[in-house]
Amino acid sequence: MEHANGIAPSLHNGLENSVGDRGAAPNKQYKRGPTARVFVNRSLSLDKIKFFGFDMDYTLAVYKSPQYEELGFELARDRLIHCGYPEELKRYIYDPGFVLRGLIFDRELGHMLKVDTYGNILVCTHGFKFLKTSEVMEDYPNKFIQLGDTSRYYICNTLFNLPEIYLQACVINYFCTTEGYVKKRQGVQRGNLVMSYATIHTDIRAAVDFVHVNGELKSKTIEDLDKYVVKEPKLPLLLDRMREHGKVFLVTNSDFEYTNKMMTYLFDFPHGPQPNEPHRPWSSYFDVVLVEARKPKFFGEGTVLRKVDMETGKLHIGHYTGTLRKGAVYSGGSSDALCDMMNAKGKEILYIGDHIFGDILKSKKRRGWRTFLVVPEMSHELAIWLEKKDLYHRLNELDSMIGEKYRNLDSASCERPNIHSLQDSIRSVVHEMDMAFGTFGSLFRSGSRQTFFASQVTRYADLYASSFINLLYYPFCYFFRAPAVLMPHESTVDHDSQYDITEESPMASRNINSNNFEHLKLEELPSQQMCRSTEITHTHDDDDESDE
Ligand SMILES: [Mg+2]
Repeated sequence: MEHANGIAPSLHNGLENSVGDRGAAPNKQYKRGPTARVFVNRSLSLDKIKFFGFDMDYTLAVYKSPQYEELGFELARDRLIHCGYPEELKRYIYDPGFVLRGLIFDRELGHMLKVDTYGNILVCTHGFKFLKTSEVMEDYPNKFIQLGDTSRYYICNTLFNLPEIYLQACVINYFCTTEGYVKKRQGVQRGNLVMSYATIHTDIRAAVDFVHVNGELKSKTIEDLDKYVVKEPKLPLLLDRMREHGKVFLVTNSDFEYTNKMMTYLFDFPHGPQPNEPHRPWSSYFDVVLVEARKPKFFGEGTVLRKVDMETGKLHIGHYTGTLRKGAVYSGGSSDALCDMMNAKGKEILYIGDHIFGDILKSKKRRGWRTFLVVPEMSHELAIWLEKKDLYHRLNELDSMIGEKYRNLDSASCERPNIHSLQDSIRSVVHEMDMAFGTFGSLFRSGSRQTFFASQVTRYADLYASSFINLLYYPFCYFFRAPAVLMPHESTVDHDSQYDITEESPMASRNINSNNFEHLKLEELPSQQMCRSTEITHTHDDDDESDE
């Protein structure tokens, strides 16, 4: 069982200290308090970052939950009704406890899935019904999906997807529970009218896109920004400090008009960076501003770079080729063009965004940018993680009870210990843990297994936190050091354990110490000279690039 040691090594590593705790003691680990902390997947020296890039929506502009999701849900639902869906859908009210980022919709069978790193199904629902294991096995013979099949599986990568996850469940629930509709394997039928789940999904996606692009979502948000958008008085201070240490740029997919209104609101304080400094316009906090960037395309071929007329909001005709001017706003472009114009290398850029695919995966994989993922769900995740610590301890206890049952058995044993009740207990603890997070459980795990979303975060986000504002609590010379990720043979073998190689099977023949090398004059081999040096000849991970 992995969970005994694999869940959160950092929790066992040492004492947690709040911001400002500067005491000194050997081997004591100093960390910012959990709400102020930035979490590290790959070590990063803030010293080497010369450019701080920002996404806007859900990064700089954090939308209030559930108000903004509710608005998105209601507008998309009403759009569906406008397009011919039943009026009765109006009776559904948005439930923020049901939705979870990272869920996957199966367009063929109409199920919503939560899967692990490899595509193994952890949770499966149809409308508002959980499928039992036997039902899941019937639809997915190995409880497994091919994540690469993007025509069948739609991954809900962003917080903008949350309203449509709920809308999807409502529509399917409506069709599956309303008299007159007959449930089929790949859709529903009424008389000679067949609605496939794929069609329903396409209609819902079109409705959501409509309210985002042409519809009222933007205008209603702008009409009542206090209701829908979080305002953070520390924002001007952090950006101002960033500009003292490097250049700051904005790359958003939103258009100029919306960006301008949103950013004006976000920086609308009577003061500037400090309470005693005068107010400054938002654009003064950025060296480069790019709107309508069309990410993820921006990180590939990109689009035509144009200059925006800030008076009229209109685009200048022609492809802009001059230098990027501070205070000006541009539209489109590409990451390559941006780097050329700023004279930036990918590794010198820290890009901060909330979209695991469009902001983080693409900028890292295609351009080698350093990445910071904003995960506003972190505060809820950490609160439950701490609140339910007894359940995690219980899981460890149950794990050792299973170990106890097998303790004195080996391949000669005929005895078959009954572990069913312990397995049942593990299932019920995992269920209780999951339910504490919400209907679909934690964003990052289900019991001891990590979700697909968690594996994407680990792989592509160098840093992550509930908000980028947490960077305020670190000096710009800070070295973010990633905790070691331990393999089971490292996490379960105590460093004080005895290891007697003479007890080992001769089949473990690669044990260098036990082999007889006497016939070789090892010291004469040039390869051996390489590891005899007492000096550091090369670095062993990417933490240190000082020999550049
Ligand atoms: Mg965003």
